[in-house]
Amino acid sequence: MLKIYNTLTKKLESFKPIEDKKVRFYHCGPTVYWTQHIGNLRGMMMADLIRRSLEYLGYDVNFVRNYTDVGHLTGDNLGDADTGEDKMEKGALREGLTPDEIADKYIRIFENDTKALNIEEPNKKPRATQYVKQMQKMITTLIEKSYAYVTPKAVYFDVSKFSNYNELNHQNLELNLSGAGTGDVSDANKKHSVDFALWFFKTGAHQNALQTWEFLGVTSEEVENGRGFPGWHIECSAMSKALLGDTIDIHMGGIEHIPVHHTNEIAQSEASNGVKFVNYWLHNEHLNVNGKKMSKSEGTGYSLQEVVSKKVEIKNRMFVNFEPFDLRYFFLNSHYRSKQNFTWDALKDAKIARENFDERVWSLPERKGNIVKSYKEKFIKAIENDFNIPQGLAIAWELLKSKEKEEDKRETILDFDKVLGLGLKGSQNIGRKILEPKHLKNIKIRNLIKERDEARLNKDFRKSDELRKLIEAEGYIVEDTKEGTKVYKKE
Ligand SMILES: [Zn+2]
Repeated sequence: MLKIYNTLTKKLESFKPIEDKKVRFYHCGPTVYWTQHIGNLRGMMMADLIRRSLEYLGYDVNFVRNYTDVGHLTGDNLGDADTGEDKMEKGALREGLTPDEIADKYIRIFENDTKALNIEEPNKKPRATQYVKQMQKMITTLIEKSYAYVTPKAVYFDVSKFSNYNELNHQNLELNLSGAGTGDVSDANKKHSVDFALWFFKTGAHQNALQTWEFLGVTSEEVENGRGFPGWHIECSAMSKALLGDTIDIHMGGIEHIPVHHTNEIAQSEASNGVKFVNYWLHNEHLNVNGKKMSKSEGTGYSLQEVVSKKVEIKNRMFVNFEPFDLRYFFLNSHYRSKQNFTWDALKDAKIARENFDERVWSLPERKGNIVKSYKEKFIKAIENDFNIPQGLAIAWELLKSKEKEEDKRETILDFDKVLGLGLKGSQNIGRKILEPKHLKNIKIRNLIKERDEARLNKDFRKSDELRKLIEAEGYIVEDTKEGTKVYKKE
């Protein structure tokens, strides 16, 4: 029986989907104005592991992850959604591109990064700018039901009208309403400082907004035809409703979304739809760097590109690059609800462990085997316990070191890899099969061979001989043939 920790109840609950064996899963995606750092990518991978686990357990998962390409202001994460600059416009000004071009550029980078980390594609990946009509429809309903009000500057959700406002964040509404801990209120007509904007009119601080739409039926004294742009929170509510329905099974995001973004999503969706929005709320913890919050200004907001271009010393003073799978393996080692601490040394340990893991799997014979039932049961038990992937990985290791039949080990590990996603399926048992170095999955050997080829090209035969010995010490044989260097594993 699958158990999931639900932020709404702060309890481990048995999972019961709305429709039998089907899961409606919404994941809050990135605001595409900048390259995502590895902390954000970890959040994406945690959702990927949960989705893969659900599929492994036999659920048919409809997984939606959005792109926010309008309306996310820099104040949003400070608990004040109505102040600051639009992140997309900030990106556009910085790079001399249009907001649309900025979105295209950073979506491309994001998708390259997630692909490199073997994160599966969502079933749908809506862009907020394509759902403005649906957002307007929801806002209109909220106005009609008196949950929202219009000022000359914006349309706001009246937090005092929604009695369950703090159900998710377990805060005290009275405290919110008295204005504790909120930022500047730039609109004098706003009723309570915690009321949040559903729609900003193209006026005041936003009079030069680059991305705006008409909003017929809603009038502001300061703009014609309600022209403006949506607030960030309404985007997820509208896209989730459009693609998954009024009530969904799982909604996931980083823990920073609990106090404001997800709290506001619940208020808007439940007030306008009149039914429960989400049955299970899941939140992933953050990645720290050197024990501290990741920070661009301190140079620790690493991108995947920065990680893979970093050289690491393994042994014999050999320098090799990190690979995206090293980072994936590193992330597999901590539970989604735990903080994880990134250091270069920790990533290096993960790299060594992963190569070791991969090599053990590759050395298993490709004969047809059977799934080892006892291990599969243990693996399922681990992921059914609120997706305990680190334990699942430990079970895979235990199996590799066990006395089970070699071909059965292989069959079972490849089955586990549907969840772990280490790309083991494509790996080959090279045995005595002679390969070109580029087909070798072992990066360490590949690099040694490359260095040896260079030495031979420079006629530095002493060095090339030393390198050959190093390669042999790792259990591989190189052969120089007319078609170039070939490699095979020693028996
Ligand atoms: Zn969201």
